[in-house]
Amino acid sequence: MLRQDAGRFMLGKYLSDKKIPWQRKRRLGMAMTGNTPTASFLTKIGKMQSAGSRLCSIAREARGESTDGLADETHTHINSAGCEGMATTVTAAHHSIWRHLYDSMHAAQKAKSKLKFVTLDKESNMSTLWRRESF
Ligand SMILES: [Zn+2]
Repeated sequence: MLRQDAGRFMLGKYLSDKKIPWQRKRRLGMAMTGNTPTASFLTKIGKMQSAGSRLCSIAREARGESTDGLADETHTHINSAGCEGMATTVTAAHHSIWRHLYDSMHAAQKAKSKLKFVTLDKESNMSTLWRRESF
């Protein structure tokens, strides 16, 4: 929140931007204030019986597992890889962002730089890196 072009200043800029649809602003406001209609929130206001994650429950039922001991369905939970129903999507988004960041860093690299991007084409570990190097 203290970084330049981030935090409350950018939040205010986003919320006052007339090109952004109000539904998106409303969703962001709900997330910021903890009023997202998650099971946790709906249980708190008496609209649901259980705060357990509905997405985790669906994922477990699909695997034929017990739905006992579900994590509370909070905004944070459903946006994390810890949610069994969202893990694949959240992980794919993470990998996509990481790939974009990595490609951007590589594209911005100066010709004189001695930094070597070792995993642009594929994952590497110390064993494969060791084999690539010629000594
Ligand atoms: Zn979940």
